[in-house]
Amino acid sequence: MARIGIAGAGVLGRLLAWRLAREGHAVQVFDPAPGPDAPATGTLLPGQPHAAGFTAAGMLSPLAELDHSGPAIARLGWRSLALWRDVAQALRKQGCGAPLFAQHGSLLLAHGADLGAARRVLARLEATPDLPAPQPLDRDALAALEPALTRDLHGWLLPNEGQVMGRDMLHALATHAPGVDWRWNQRVETVAPHTLHTDDGTPHRVDLAIDVRGLGARPALPLRGVRGEVVWLHAPGLRLLRPLRLLHPRHRVYVVPRPGDLFVVGASEIESEDRSPVSLRSAVELMAAAHSVLPELAEARIVHMENNLRPALPNNEPHTHTAPGLLRINGLFRHGWLLAPALVEDALADLGDLKHV
Ligand SMILES: Cc1cc2nc3c(=O)[nH]c(=O)nc-3n(C[C@H](O)[C@H](O)[C@H](O)COP(=O)(O)OP(=O)(O)OC[C@H]3O[C@@H](n4cnc5c(N)ncnc54)[C@H](O)[C@@H]3O)c2cc1C
Repeated sequence: MARIGIAGAGVLGRLLAWRLAREGHAVQVFDPAPGPDAPATGTLLPGQPHAAGFTAAGMLSPLAELDHSGPAIARLGWRSLALWRDVAQALRKQGCGAPLFAQHGSLLLAHGADLGAARRVLARLEATPDLPAPQPLDRDALAALEPALTRDLHGWLLPNEGQVMGRDMLHALATHAPGVDWRWNQRVETVAPHTLHTDDGTPHRVDLAIDVRGLGARPALPLRGVRGEVVWLHAPGLRLLRPLRLLHPRHRVYVVPRPGDLFVVGASEIESEDRSPVSLRSAVELMAAAHSVLPELAEARIVHMENNLRPALPNNEPHTHTAPGLLRINGLFRHGWLLAPALVEDALADLGDLKHV
């Protein structure tokens, strides 16, 4: 059994804690958040940021991500899909009743006017021969998959893509991790091999120190925050089985169904660390795009708007660093849910036997 200290209880921190505790290690996790739950308000308060993972739509879209990242990201994501399915199954066996994972593929949609842009995106998605290609759908096939869609759309099925119910998954990982010592309301100032220093000046000596603080890992890593905004809608009666991605001139708009007749519409991607509430422009554009493909959304109720910052490195690639007594993973940018399980698996394999780190 190794003593492991984790700085950060976001997607990576909770997944690591859950996994390492199940392997029998003694795990402590430090995070400035007051507890394991999603924050009541989605607005980032100055000095009180919360995990980007709570705000994320939780799309697991290795194929669609080929539009703006390389095949290595897509392949990691493809592995992660299977790993999230296993995590959700294990949590169900541990007694977790909430739906945590779904995998019905996703749909890429374009209005006729955006067909040129769609073809350019499809060319990028089709350029990786070892991954499944988008499947074109005629109007009847599209209507059979998702009857709520407006009829004049062009559509492609991205087979086997999935989604994680992010808020529920974060909660489940924290509440089903046997014996983990959660140190809420505690910020870690520095992480070094075998040691974490909390902000009260205490050094915590461990066999393995893990730094997964997202943006909180500055200045150890040259991170920047990329603002993203989402809108939560309640639309009782609207049937949608799988996530939708729409081609839009300004945003990569998606609509993601959640249990309870909820739909997450996202997400802006703005090079700014502005933490103020969602702008009218983003809200109008995201909702107008969603309504243009799902007319039934007209009577949806806006239940929640939320913004957060994606932790990104200068090359927008994830970064893993292992050394004796130390693991850092960061820079998960716009695909942290997509990449986390595969990155964790690779990092732990790299470290080897944790009793001898
Ligand atoms: C609007 C939006 C939509 C997104 N949609 C998707 C999506 O559909 N699919 C996808 O794969 N990804 C998506 N993402 C990206 C994803 O949320 C991030 O990549 C992911 O959350 C990064 O995980 P992380 O564990 O590195 O960081 P985080 O989830 O941000 O967690 C970092 C944790 O560290 C804690 N922390 C910070 N400072 C300290 C400190 N000093 N000491 C201790 N703890 C500290 C924080 O409180 C937090 O709990 C989206 C992000 C946003 C903002």
